[in-house]
Amino acid sequence: EYVILNGEILPRQDARIDVEDRGYQFGDGVYEVIRIYNGKMFTVTEHLERLEASAEKIGMKLAWTITELEVLFARLIEINSLETGIVYMQVTRGISPRSHAYPPAGTAQTLVAYTRNMPRPELNFSDGVKTILTEDIRWLRCDIKSLNLLGNIMAKQKAAEAGCYEAILHRGEKVTEGSSSNIFIIKDGSMYTHPANNFILNGITRQTIEKLCAAHGIPFIEKEFSVAELEDADEVIVGSTTSEVTPVVEIEGKPVGDGKPGHVTRQLQKLFDGEIERQCGK
Ligand code: PMP
Repeated sequence: EYVILNGEILPRQDARIDVEDRGYQFGDGVYEVIRIYNGKMFTVTEHLERLEASAEKIGMKLAWTITELEVLFARLIEINSLETGIVYMQVTRGISPRSHAYPPAGTAQTLVAYTRNMPRPELNFSDGVKTILTEDIRWLRCDIKSLNLLGNIMAKQKAAEAGCYEAILHRGEKVTEGSSSNIFIIKDGSMYTHPANNFILNGITRQTIEKLCAAHGIPFIEKEFSVAELEDADEVIVGSTTSEVTPVVEIEGKPVGDGKPGHVTRQLQKLFDGEIERQCGK
């Protein structure tokens, strides 16, 4: 089992992070998760461009180019013989004596990446998942994929304690996204999802779904919707890198539609499979 530390690939047990790494102390960094199918990275450019964009939004210029990162991760996937899974990566503002303000210019960033085997959640795809609702108490820059995830993990924990897969977040009446996913509703044949602004992470899966909808005549509408509209939807989808297109069949104990994955969801799952095959092969 190998990992990446800064520019190097080394055995996991040899990777060491300093106690004053700013990622560890402040969550001062950004991350990405990329899906691997057939040993190949899915939507890799989109993920690496978002990593770069997240870094820029917190005043960090990535010390590695997108091309360098892609080459490094491809080598890691190969050396770990990963077929189906993920590569996780994070870049922090580096190691410096603890002080809130950014460290001196020239402080080396810390890059860490590792892979993990992860089968596709086929049972969730076919049967759907249960969810809860919880207030979105996060900060106002949810568009940044930052290492600060307390608001997200506390919401997910609440879902886990309720025996549910995901927590659907809302700011007052308006649904924003899931604790680690985007939320889509289908009403009368149209898909609705929260606009890509500071209140949500613009998911790469969300962008893939948008393209697939556009290419196949499913109206895709970026518009806020309320908790009441969510509960009244024909179909609800949780979308993310690891969840892909997962049907939601229950919200707070109440069924979505007839309580089974709907037909637009199933159509999208097939289109998503096709896109995976197109990019990563069968
Ligand atoms: N929103 C949040 C808060 C997330 O953590 C994720 C998962 N990274 C997403 C949305 C979905 O993003 P993606 O499709 O790029 O995985």
